[in-house]
Amino acid sequence: MDNITRETLLITQEECAEVTQAISKVFRFGMDAQYPAGAPTNKQRLEEELGDLQAMILILSQKGIINMKSVELAAEAKVEKLKKWSNIL
Ligand SMILES: [Mg+2]
Repeated sequence: MDNITRETLLITQEECAEVTQAISKVFRFGMDAQYPAGAPTNKQRLEEELGDLQAMILILSQKGIINMKSVELAAEAKVEKLKKWSNIL
C-alpha cells in the first residue's frame, strides 16, 4: 500500500469515528443541544462530520482507491435490505 492510500484511509477512519461520536452526542443530549453555549448544535456537528466523511469517500474514489459505481450499487442494495429488515423506509 502506498503512503497516499494509507493516509487517505487513515483520515477516512478518523472521520468514521467522528461521525460515531457525533451520533452518540445526539443520543445523549438531543439534536438541539449546544455545548458550550453558543457552539454549533449536535445536529450541526453531525452534519459537519457526515460532510467530512462524504468528502473522504469522494477522495477515495478520485484517487482510484475505491470504485464509486460499486459504492452506489452497495447503497442501493442497503436501501433494499432496510426496506425489508427495518422500519425506517
Ligand atoms: Mg471531521
